Amino acid sequence: AVPLVVAINTSTAARNGMLIRDRIAMEEARNLDTVMFDKTGTLTEGEQGVVGVTTVDGWNDRRALAVAAGVEGDSEHMIARAVRSAATERGVEPATVTDFENLRGLGVRATVAPEATSAPTRPSGTSSASKGGETVHLGGPNLLERLGVERPSAIATFADEAGSNAQTVVYLVREESAVVAAFALADVVRAESRAAIDALHAMGIEVAMLTGDSEDVARAVAVELGIDQYFAEVLPDEKDTTVARLQSEGKLVAMVGDGVNDAPALARADVGIAIGSGTDVAIESGDIVLVDNDPRDVVRLVRLSAASYRKMQ
Ligand code: ADP
Ligand code: MG
Repeated sequence: AVPLVVAINTSTAARNGMLIRDRIAMEEARNLDTVMFDKTGTLTEGEQGVVGVTTVDGWNDRRALAVAAGVEGDSEHMIARAVRSAATERGVEPATVTDFENLRGLGVRATVAPEATSAPTRPSGTSSASKGGETVHLGGPNLLERLGVERPSAIATFADEAGSNAQTVVYLVREESAVVAAFALADVVRAESRAAIDALHAMGIEVAMLTGDSEDVARAVAVELGIDQYFAEVLPDEKDTTVARLQSEGKLVAMVGDGVNDAPALARADVGIAIGSGTDVAIESGDIVLVDNDPRDVVRLVRLSAASYRKMQ
């Protein structure tokens, strides 16, 4: 027979801003125990901007920005976009790089022409790639840990201050493993996030948050939004195991995310919910897609699931 209820349900869903890719997940949504949100780009706008720069002696903001913007290459990460636009806004020409490499969940690495790190930045148009150069890294706390690098105290002070304001910090690291600069990036929590979380709580659903970002930033956002449990500095390949851990406690878990790194967790979750503006990989891994990028649609989804499947019984 034609699954009429499901057909109606699908068009109702479309009117509510969601696209259903997996009917079973839609049915399970009414029984959810926990909704796990990715932070950046899901609970926040993900439109980060560089709001602060600090450097060690011998460097300056413009040179640091030139090298950082170069090292980001054409990375699609929002941190990369923010660093490149900060350079553009200040009329800073990105340093020429070779051997760009994306270190998923950690940052980026590239080889920078010697003049970029050893001499003041030249006016635009005159930079040239020369042989040799040095490897420069740009990334967050996970990257520093991986490289075994300590922060000079002035950089640590800057980072702590930024972190307490929920700003994401990334570090520029030279070949000899010295941090030479740090950038603070500010993102804003989506206006709808608080309402979504309050409504989920009212339905008896627990709310968790997962992020590759630092402990400081995660804590600040969790407190601001009243999130029950958060997981910070989670590497991309740990995101799905974090979901699995909650499942092993017997919980029915939804994951809401937008990024490439969220895809395995979206696939692992009982209900994978992708943000419509997210990356293709995330959307392909989701059971349901939130077309309007509105976290409150998670609440509508649970209500719609409950209403639709009650009728079927
Ligand atoms: P999220 O869970 O916040 O979407 P990601 O796994 O994409 O995080 O990234 C985790 C962390 O790795 C970021 O907070 C940042 O510190 C670092 N990082 C990732 N990609 C980049 C990049 N292109 N440039 C600088 N830092 C990066
Ligand atoms: Mg994200």
